[in-house]
Amino acid sequence: MTAQEVLAWNTAKVMIEEGLRPPIVHAATGLCRNRLRSLYRQLHGKSAVQGRTSEFAFNRLKTREQVRESAVFLQFYHDLGGDQIFEVLDHDLVMEAYRTYKDASPNHIDGTTAWYIARDLRESVLKTHRCRNCGRMFLYEPRSDYMIRCPICGG
Ligand SMILES: [Zn+2]
Repeated sequence: MTAQEVLAWNTAKVMIEEGLRPPIVHAATGLCRNRLRSLYRQLHGKSAVQGRTSEFAFNRLKTREQVRESAVFLQFYHDLGGDQIFEVLDHDLVMEAYRTYKDASPNHIDGTTAWYIARDLRESVLKTHRCRNCGRMFLYEPRSDYMIRCPICGG
């Protein structure tokens, strides 16, 4: 393996450990789909659920609690990556932010949702607002009743 492949496999392993499905990991790393599926089976003891993966983060944030958690994850992610997160999707950075967030937050959103958030921010499919009351950044989506104001303080 080249050094680049070793790095790609390290990235893939973390993504799969956090439950991301092989098609997403393949798109992120360019590694062989069959080998990613084997790695998934090896790490989880079962095959990944099949089905479409062209989802949006917005569709996975259905409850008030999940929306609140998304803002907490966003804080960790933005603290780590700064405004670069709106320009670049760095899978290692997303996973590092996710793991730090997950350790700190007992009711955490899953790794796939976190990755979709990162991707959708990069694609400008998701926007952020900064709360005028508490100053925190949150995901803004006018189609959701929970995502039009700050989910942390309600302001
Ligand atoms: Zn607020």
